[in-house]
Amino acid sequence: TQTETVLEVNNIEVIYNHVILVLKGVSLTVPKGGITALLGGNGAGKTTTLKAISNLLRSERGEVTKGSIQYRGEKVQDLSPADLVTKGVIQVMEGRHCFEHLTVEENLLTGAYTRKAGRGDIDADLNMVYDYFPRLKERRKSQAGYTSGGEQQMVAIGRALMSRPETILLDEPSMGLAPQLVEQIFEIVKNLNENEGYTFLLAEQNTNVALRYAHYGYILESGRIVMDGPAAALRENPDVKEFYLGMS
Ligand code: ATP
Repeated sequence: TQTETVLEVNNIEVIYNHVILVLKGVSLTVPKGGITALLGGNGAGKTTTLKAISNLLRSERGEVTKGSIQYRGEKVQDLSPADLVTKGVIQVMEGRHCFEHLTVEENLLTGAYTRKAGRGDIDADLNMVYDYFPRLKERRKSQAGYTSGGEQQMVAIGRALMSRPETILLDEPSMGLAPQLVEQIFEIVKNLNENEGYTFLLAEQNTNVALRYAHYGYILESGRIVMDGPAAALRENPDVKEFYLGMS
């Protein structure tokens, strides 16, 4: 159902290098089976919020110094990123991060490493990924480093799907892609959400496209949520129109 909350971020503060306060009390809830968008300009704190949730801040000398993050009612701040994957939460990082020297298919298979699944299950999932991304099937033997930006974004999402997640944190899927490809990626996200029930929390600077596909949106400015609401309401909001929709 649309109403069960899976992820709850409550008033978190994030500090980098012990001194740089970047998130100044961010709260948000992500309902199961929804597409939730985290919007805002460059440097607003979107990536930091996603990394706080998936516990990827430590390697950047960042720290959650206040507030709490709960997944299915359980405090997850002290879990490793790998443990979170086991709980069903995976992040697709900004900039794709493929293994360039591996083939597309080998990249996808690396996504299944946390699972204790048999080869049969993994093949079934691989086929599921290829059903959603036919282009990856065509390119499966190609070295990932030689595929296009759009294909690499598909590989990154496909690899996340191979871990059998419940919730996918998607960082800036539109980044660096031509408008037509952006639309294609968001269509696939929508299909995955509707047909397979995946929950998405996506960070986007492209307000326009994100609010057409998301159900609910939060707008971040300088580390604070300044507005939130159903996507349809945000699209009609005069401030959003003036400051965000005109820009993208
Ligand atoms: P973008 O779309 O550019 O990724 P964003 O909304 O995702 O923007 P963040 O990447 O979360 O924003 O960055 C928020 C702020 O935190 C920025 O001012 C950035 O300079 C700062 N910041 C990010 N990473 C670090 C770090 N490792 N050390 C210090 N400051 C950082």
